[in-house]
Amino acid sequence: MVNYKGGQSMYYSSGNYEAFAKPEKPEGIEKKHAYIVGSGLAGLAAACFLIRDAQMPGENITVFESLPIAGGSCDGLHDPQKGYIMRGGREMDNHFECMWDLFRSIPSIVNPGETIFSEYYKLNKEDPNYSLCRVTEKQGQDAHTDRQYGLNKNAEKQILKLMLSTDEELADKKIDDVFDEDFYKTNFWIYWQTMFAFEKWHSALEMKLYMQRYIHHIDGLPDLSALRFTRYNQYESMILPMLKYIEDAGGKIAYNTQVTDIQCETSPTRKAARYIAYVQDGVEKYLELTDDDFVFITNGSQGDGSAYGDQTHAPEITIKNGQGPSIELWKKLAAQDDAFGHPDKFFKDIKETSWESWTVDTANKQILSAIEKICHRDPLSGKVVTGGIVTAKDSSWLMSWTINRQGQFVDQPDDHCLIWVYGLNCWDDDGDYVHKPMYKCTGEELCQEWLYHIGIPVDEIDELAKQCNTTPCMMPYVTSFFEPRAYGDRPLVVPVGSVNIAFVGQYAETPRDTVFTTEYSIRTAMEAVYTLCNVDRGVPEVWGSVFDVRELIKAGVKMNDGKMIKEWPLPAAQKAAIAAAFKLINNTEISKLLIRLGAAEKKDFAPIVEMPKVKVEVTSRVSELKDSKTAKIGAGVTVASLMAIAALLHRKKS
Ligand SMILES: Cc1cc2nc3c(=O)[nH]c(=O)nc-3n(C[C@H](O)[C@H](O)[C@H](O)COP(=O)(O)OP(=O)(O)OC[C@H]3O[C@@H](n4cnc5c(N)ncnc54)[C@H](O)[C@@H]3O)c2cc1C
Repeated sequence: MVNYKGGQSMYYSSGNYEAFAKPEKPEGIEKKHAYIVGSGLAGLAAACFLIRDAQMPGENITVFESLPIAGGSCDGLHDPQKGYIMRGGREMDNHFECMWDLFRSIPSIVNPGETIFSEYYKLNKEDPNYSLCRVTEKQGQDAHTDRQYGLNKNAEKQILKLMLSTDEELADKKIDDVFDEDFYKTNFWIYWQTMFAFEKWHSALEMKLYMQRYIHHIDGLPDLSALRFTRYNQYESMILPMLKYIEDAGGKIAYNTQVTDIQCETSPTRKAARYIAYVQDGVEKYLELTDDDFVFITNGSQGDGSAYGDQTHAPEITIKNGQGPSIELWKKLAAQDDAFGHPDKFFKDIKETSWESWTVDTANKQILSAIEKICHRDPLSGKVVTGGIVTAKDSSWLMSWTINRQGQFVDQPDDHCLIWVYGLNCWDDDGDYVHKPMYKCTGEELCQEWLYHIGIPVDEIDELAKQCNTTPCMMPYVTSFFEPRAYGDRPLVVPVGSVNIAFVGQYAETPRDTVFTTEYSIRTAMEAVYTLCNVDRGVPEVWGSVFDVRELIKAGVKMNDGKMIKEWPLPAAQKAAIAAAFKLINNTEISKLLIRLGAAEKKDFAPIVEMPKVKVEVTSRVSELKDSKTAKIGAGVTVASLMAIAALLHRKKS
């Protein structure tokens, strides 16, 4: 139970008892109003939760959006001049608990009678996502990483150390502070870095949270079978239905309206927003606020300052470090109270937080056939194509590309394929075909580099790139939330003492969840609405797989590329401990569990593996315990924990 202010609370739940509940209407909700800054997923989700769960009249809800379009960083746009633009394609998970909680109530637009959730569920059941070629090299050849992690002893030790470190220990630490080349040369890092867009200078704390949050996906990471996708781009599949839901209920979206300031009365025990200043279609306006006027603020946006190019123009970033509409508002708030966070931690260096993506639009048969050769699927079948990203591991730009189900846009011509490409290294190095750094390239040049890495013969690349239409986008702050941070740099969703202020989106602090996800924005929105409006229903907790011994054992086996515990390359002392443990758990539910999960086999338990060097010690220890039932039970429990930790990491913290 998280108590933020007198009498009001928000609590987490798991299981489906609370999931099926419709909360009581909060007392006095008709008299309250909500002003939401930002129409990204967080802002729109806040509006939806206000309508569905807080049961606030829709007419009382206003969303301010500085752009002429909703959706923020969750996009998909067909620009008649430039072409199709997808800044990103959102990889999603079955355990985005708050998102599915919401989307079961939002009707689909393209499939009457379905919700966003039911549409997505059926689609991903019928056409599950998985990759048939995750990594290439040498111009489109399969690099045969073959679902292996290839972790060496030192890399495993470093992963263990990170996993067991506390959040406090990892405050302000970089990934490079906890890993070295032994780790960076593994397949694990290739998969991890390119799937989540982590750089070595990013937050070690966030990396740990990711490992814990997605421990249940260790098995599905190498071939991306852990992922699920919407049918169309996320603007059409998610944002448009949310907008319709809000507007049908009477909610208003005020476009071209930039909130420039929110002034608050603050003390250590009480914080209240008192007025909002905004510029609407060029006109300055003010709105006075009472305690009954709730303000939900998207503080910071990874999409701020996005610069678009086209087939013949490179995108040009025009903002400087720290500039951007959402950042400037957050800075003004942060100047009023330390509890409102430290935006400078996230937006101080565009070079550290940017990358570029581009959308290639092609109907060229030779290109389609080169794609099919790599991903072993017909790109125009309308079904899963690459099954997530394909990474060209020898690309100097560290380029990855993906093709989701075509058409990705409702209006896309049947014979066209849209490819999303991105590169992490956009500033310094020339391409392998194009002799320029990525950020200086036009759409056509970016396309050339991609064609090179999918194996198009070098003498045909220039001509084929001309036949495609490619739209690039530089995002100066796309990974700004991955910058090293400490507790307090992000404001709590509802700061202590707040009566009407909540922070939503990727730069608000909520425990255990990970940023750069659609879920994070929706979760913070749900927590914000439930807290400020006193909605008496549990917010689903972050999926607890890291606390599930089964998931830990499975992860341990997977991280050892399928090897059973006895085959793990452990020092003699640890092998001895495991051998002793195996004796103690022989013929128990724990030994059965290990066998079931592929961590051991029947014959491991009787007799146990011989460990000559330590045999004497083990034997005497076992004989001490073997007659005592209590000791056996106690040992069983200990062993379960030991197995779990050993299975996951099989190195003790050094
Ligand atoms: C390239 C890319 C790839 C991604 N890949 C994935 C993925 O694979 N899986 C996944 O789960 N998620 C992914 N995401 C993340 C996910 O899409 C975003 O985290 C999420 O959409 C953010 O939503 P938000 O509402 O928190 O913020 P934003 O979408 O950034 O929205 C903020 C909105 O608020 C507006 N705004 C801000 N300040 C003001 C102001 N002062 N006045 C008025 N308006 C304001 C902005 O204009 C913007 O529209 C990806 C995002 C990108 C960009």
